[in-house]
Amino acid sequence: MAEAMIVTGASRGIGAATALLAARRGWAVGVGYRSAHDEAAAVVRTIRAAGGAAVAVPGDVADEADVVRLFETVATELGPIRALVNNAGSVGQYGPTAQLRADELRRLLDVNVVGAFVCAREAIRRMRTDTGGTGGTIVNVSSRASVLGGPNEWVGYAASKGAVDSMTVGLAKELAPLGIRVNAVRPGLILTDIHDAAPPGRLERLLPNVPMARVGTAEEVAEAILWLTSNASSYVSGSFTDIGGGR
Ligand code: NAP
Repeated sequence: MAEAMIVTGASRGIGAATALLAARRGWAVGVGYRSAHDEAAAVVRTIRAAGGAAVAVPGDVADEADVVRLFETVATELGPIRALVNNAGSVGQYGPTAQLRADELRRLLDVNVVGAFVCAREAIRRMRTDTGGTGGTIVNVSSRASVLGGPNEWVGYAASKGAVDSMTVGLAKELAPLGIRVNAVRPGLILTDIHDAAPPGRLERLLPNVPMARVGTAEEVAEAILWLTSNASSYVSGSFTDIGGGR
């Protein structure tokens, strides 16, 4: 049986690109997603058509029972879970903080922070070497926003990714003795559907701030994630890989 990687939010964008690249590198892939059934099914179809193994599992990462079901389904159908990519996320309410709605911020933190933690918990329980696991890796998909702060747009989102960064530092130290490496990638402006949540023209407006003068692709982020889950990065833990074209 191949080793399994779970990628949350793998129906679209960075998650889908990661799932497809992971399959090409020999991983059996658990495709987590919330509601885009057709897109998730298409990712699985593509992987299977190339001879790989994949299963799509719907669920909300903010719902603990859904997360537990995701891990159980993938372990049963694909084999031992050796990698988790904590990718599912959203940006929440757009605009200045003076217009903040507390319920929207709570929901955002539930998805981006609590969801990532509960996924990590499930991964730890299966990977930890002190109770019979064979170790593994966790890659958290943070954002350059955690450092830049998202003023006037998404400070709540930026703060949620700041929490993901702190989680990465803490878990890397906590889990090293258990054979689990934990790292984060911090994408900058990557061309995916997530930008539909902003007013039109935002990417064009921000491009002059990007030294490389272009947006990035989901595939460029996937390459970094796959390196962090591979043995090529065997001494790397607690690290942050910025993927922002120099921004
Ligand atoms: P995207 O294209 O909007 O895709 C988001 C994915 O997450 C979808 O598969 C979606 O599932 C899933 N998802 C959203 N909320 C979920 C929930 N509550 N439970 C389970 N799955 C959920 O986004 P993306 O741009 O690829 O972003 C992926 C990650 O990269 C996010 O964590 C984001 O914060 C981070 N990031 C993105 C950028 C960028 O510029 N794109 C920059 C920095 C960081 P459905 O399809 O079923 O809705």
